[in-house]
Amino acid sequence: MRIATRLSQIKPSPTLGLNAQIQEMKAEGRSVVSLAVGEPDFPTPAHVCQAAKAAVDEGFTGYTAVPGMPSLRQAVAGYYQTQYQVQAQADNTIVSNGGKQVLYNLLQALVEPGDEVLLPVPYWVSYPPLVALAGGIVQEVPSTAADDFLVTADQLEACRTPQSRFLILNTPSNPTGSHYSQQQLDALIEWALSHDIFVICDEIYDQLIYPPAGPATASRWWQQAPDKIAVVNGLSKSFAMTGWRIGFGLAHADLIKAMTKLQGQSTSNICSIAQRAAEAALTGTWDQVRTMRDSFAKRRDLALEYIAAWPGTTCPRPAGAFYLFPHLGDCLEGSAIPDSAALASHILEQTGIAVVPGSAFGDDACLRLSYAVDETTLTDALERIGKVLQQL
Ligand code: PLP
Repeated sequence: MRIATRLSQIKPSPTLGLNAQIQEMKAEGRSVVSLAVGEPDFPTPAHVCQAAKAAVDEGFTGYTAVPGMPSLRQAVAGYYQTQYQVQAQADNTIVSNGGKQVLYNLLQALVEPGDEVLLPVPYWVSYPPLVALAGGIVQEVPSTAADDFLVTADQLEACRTPQSRFLILNTPSNPTGSHYSQQQLDALIEWALSHDIFVICDEIYDQLIYPPAGPATASRWWQQAPDKIAVVNGLSKSFAMTGWRIGFGLAHADLIKAMTKLQGQSTSNICSIAQRAAEAALTGTWDQVRTMRDSFAKRRDLALEYIAAWPGTTCPRPAGAFYLFPHLGDCLEGSAIPDSAALASHILEQTGIAVVPGSAFGDDACLRLSYAVDETTLTDALERIGKVLQQL
């Protein structure tokens, strides 16, 4: 079968082997506890579901405008106004199938073949393939656990080349949970703008930031440099709506038009029913967002207490999202386990607990754990993983 060479740019998912192992264990009747999940363990708020049901009952089931129905785009613009005091108009927004499609549209609309895209490591798994599909070349910018996996303008400068055209930032981050302060983010954006580098800032976890850390957004800079900044967000994480596929973006109206052109010839508008649900989420009560945030903050603290007992491990205290990214130090040295993938497989085999190897995010010395599970499951799993590490 002849497959387009374009797809050879995309490597098979690094967690494929692990997923196969999970399936095998389940087929053998063994139970598997997953700390690998990337979605909140909360239901979508009832009023949001209700809005979707009403849309069906009303027969709101036809096509809508490609970038989203006007009232929803207005609600997205309103989000930037109320959250960040940014004066955005509806034509600066687009609604796509998840934050992922917003990113896809952006990169396809902006990147020319051979353009370099600066990407701090560890990174969310989809950025490198999305960049490659757009013909771009990822320029990795390393960070360390000692620096909370955050980078500075100096570190970006050290990786910049004459071909560097874009910078992808993600705060709070998947996989580390690390979050830049507004001041730190400002410094990175100022640096990028001074080198004519376009910034794509993925803020999909912006409602899951734990005090004393506060919000930080690139949208404030978008106001000053609308043709040099784009912001990605969505409802998957903040409103527990992963399956509804609702992402949104903030960008220059011309860029939004280009993204709309692309979306119009690929997927068209997102599901009309999901759009009504999205509008209800953005304009209705945010009680559940607050409940989730409090609950995740508590679990993070609990999880860190257990990880503190793991041998040789350092784990920064993340300020957001629902992931921990412990760095295993020299834990594997002298053991028969060569890398994070083998370690994740070993943990799964020994305990029935699934975690994601750090190599999936560009850092082989780490594991990613999600705390989007109940407290008992979480603490029990972390205790058992700790015992496995002690026996290596
Ligand atoms: N960006 C980051 C950092 C993510 O972790 C995810 C999902 O895991 C997404 C974007 C995309 O989310 P969705 O397409 O579900 O909105």
